[in-house]
Amino acid sequence: MNTKPRFPSLSLSLLLIISGGASTNLHAKTNTPSAVKVAATHPVTSAETLNSLKMGNDRFISGKVRTDGQSPTDIQKLASGQAPQTIVLSCSDSRVPPESVFDQKLGEMFTVRAAGEALSSQAIGSIEFAVAKLGSKLIVVLGHTSCGAVKAAVDTLDGKSAGSESLDQLVNDIKPRLRPMAPGTIRNQDLQEESLDNAKGVARDLMARSKIISTAVNAGKIKIVVAIYHLNDGKVTFEQ
Ligand SMILES: [Zn+2]
Repeated sequence: MNTKPRFPSLSLSLLLIISGGASTNLHAKTNTPSAVKVAATHPVTSAETLNSLKMGNDRFISGKVRTDGQSPTDIQKLASGQAPQTIVLSCSDSRVPPESVFDQKLGEMFTVRAAGEALSSQAIGSIEFAVAKLGSKLIVVLGHTSCGAVKAAVDTLDGKSAGSESLDQLVNDIKPRLRPMAPGTIRNQDLQEESLDNAKGVARDLMARSKIISTAVNAGKIKIVVAIYHLNDGKVTFEQ
């Protein structure tokens, strides 16, 4: 039997097998009974996961990043399944790769990316998959300063097109999260306030638009936090 999770099939019978032991290295569990399937669980809390991300960002800023977690052995260990502690919804901006800014390695971070963290059924469904099937403890909505998608939303508040039907759908998802302002005007030169308003709104909308996510959050199984990446120094600041 093939026990590999086959995302995005969502087939429960194909989910990986994860032990509930004390070790945080769950990826090493490969020799498991082929017919066994259990719910994914993590031995770490959302607070511990959040702290590990903060420490990872500190390493990223200092340039003292990890060298483990990406060897051929690690690749082989992960072939049987994934158990990422964190789900990140971030902007697609090339300067904000979540795995890099949090110094995370293979199998540790489930990432969903769209310009401006714009929500779509595909983005929400991807997060729902991880919440329901992978046992992650934390969802991070990661915006960033000087976000081009947020700027495009600000610039089209008067209703003009962003350039195409798809681009209009993207900015129209962002616009309701921005506080009332005149089209084209910004509060901060680097759009920090606007990007934070958008990221906070994305977190609220995830709760409002997904029963799977809101149920898991309300049950205390997972926590949503909002964060902003600062392009000038690489620092991620979290909003609690
Ligand atoms: Zn952006």
